[in-house]
Amino acid sequence: LEFFDFNLSRPILKSIKELQYDQPTPIQERVIPFIMEGRDVCGSAITGSGKTASFVIPIIERLLFRQKEISATRVLILSPTRELSAQCFSVIENFTKFTNIRSCLSVGGLSNKIQEAGLRTRPDIIVATPGRMIDHLLNSQSVGLEDIEILVLDEADRLLELGFLESINEIIRQCPKNRQTLMFSATITPNVQKLARQILKKPVYVHV
Ligand code: AMP
Repeated sequence: LEFFDFNLSRPILKSIKELQYDQPTPIQERVIPFIMEGRDVCGSAITGSGKTASFVIPIIERLLFRQKEISATRVLILSPTRELSAQCFSVIENFTKFTNIRSCLSVGGLSNKIQEAGLRTRPDIIVATPGRMIDHLLNSQSVGLEDIEILVLDEADRLLELGFLESINEIIRQCPKNRQTLMFSATITPNVQKLARQILKKPVYVHV
């Protein structure tokens, strides 16, 4: 299977070429078609498997497929740590380079004022740690989740280990019900499984 087989649009194919990705990795091969169809997915894949691009590519494809006239935050990606959020953000930057999609990184350690200014412009994609996201939602009101179409919980096992369940539940309460939800986890622990059952609709489980 080649990236060409996914019917991706030109700006994404251009990024893939620039990044010199030859072929989709196994997780990419399995989940890209499901995410493009709008299905909820629970994927078990470790860092290094190409899992970030496995959700970033089809998410951007979906955003490009139905562009909006008014800026709106349509995708929220929650990731357990600053470093992982920053890595995910850089993958998004790579794949939005030739598009007009805007994204914003929101994590501790970055200036709150600058982040709030960025969030107020309603970027298409926000990558955040749950703690910082809750901060913005409850305190600064610089962000609204009413337009979220896709929610991603990246490294779900670590999100739970770090005690973010309550924050995640609060964030989910503020997202529309008819969204697409994606979960990725190195291992599907009983707690991850439980959360998946609560928040995913007719999910596809993919294990690589
Ligand atoms: P991840 O598992 O998302 O942390 O990705 C691990 C590394 O694999 C990153 O440096 C990616 O740039 C790289 N990568 C992702 N997909 C591919 C691919 N299809 N071909 C080659 N490298 C890739």
